[in-house]
Amino acid sequence: MPAGRFVVEASALAEGAEIELDSDHAHQVRDVLRLAAGDALTLLDGVGGEWPATLSRVGRAGVVVRVGARQAGAAEPRAQVVLYQGMLKGAKFEVVLQKGTELGLAAFVPLLCEHGVAGGDELGAAKRVRWRRILVEATEQCGRARVPELAEPCALARALVGLAPGTLAVILCPDEPGTSLRAALLDRRAGSEGASRAGPEVALFVGPEGGFAHAEVALARQAGAVSVTLGPRILRAETAAIVAAALALEVRGELG
Ligand code: SAM
Repeated sequence: MPAGRFVVEASALAEGAEIELDSDHAHQVRDVLRLAAGDALTLLDGVGGEWPATLSRVGRAGVVVRVGARQAGAAEPRAQVVLYQGMLKGAKFEVVLQKGTELGLAAFVPLLCEHGVAGGDELGAAKRVRWRRILVEATEQCGRARVPELAEPCALARALVGLAPGTLAVILCPDEPGTSLRAALLDRRAGSEGASRAGPEVALFVGPEGGFAHAEVALARQAGAVSVTLGPRILRAETAAIVAAALALEVRGELG
């Protein structure tokens, strides 16, 4: 894999085109990776395509690359696993975005919950720009070619209504003895591959720091979600999200 992998504006990419990298990427190429004209790098369109490219000019005045032919990203997971995450404070949600991207989640839906962060700076436009940047950098770093989707923050009830038929929806609850997440995932894999192609195969609902309210768990169950456990120890919300993502992708054969 060439040293540099950069997500760029998809509309600029065409075989044979020469494009100038933006100042951040130019700095990476010139001053961090210390690449020179003739060196290879990979441009990513962020929607699944990798475009091999060759540096044609590297200088203080700008960095220009010649674009090769599009290839499908080889590291992109086939399984569509989506994380519905109760909003967390500060850097915790950012850790979930970064690690979830590396693991192979298809999308993130920030959930507005009774016991979670309700608004203000945590959900402002500046935060979304920062979150998108974290997704892009994690995509570049881990070898994926598609930047996971980031939905608008959404109430639990609306998220449940929006689930496509056939999606395995699981709500993670530490204090209810129930099915293990692994068992629910294996059961569905053995029983059917019936998820609608229009929606996620697995929807993981993980609570905020304060957990889901009883009424929220009841609502999710009514909507067909299975309540599941990750075992007897209570994990921090961000740990639970990462473990659940890893399990779901492992059972679908996307890890290891
Ligand atoms: N006292 C809260 C409760 O009982 O829900 C603890 C919340 S926990 C810190 C945050 C979230 O992580 C939970 O809402 C749940 O989704 C998930 N979680 C943590 N440990 C878990 C476990 N052992 N099994 C299932 N989910 C867990």
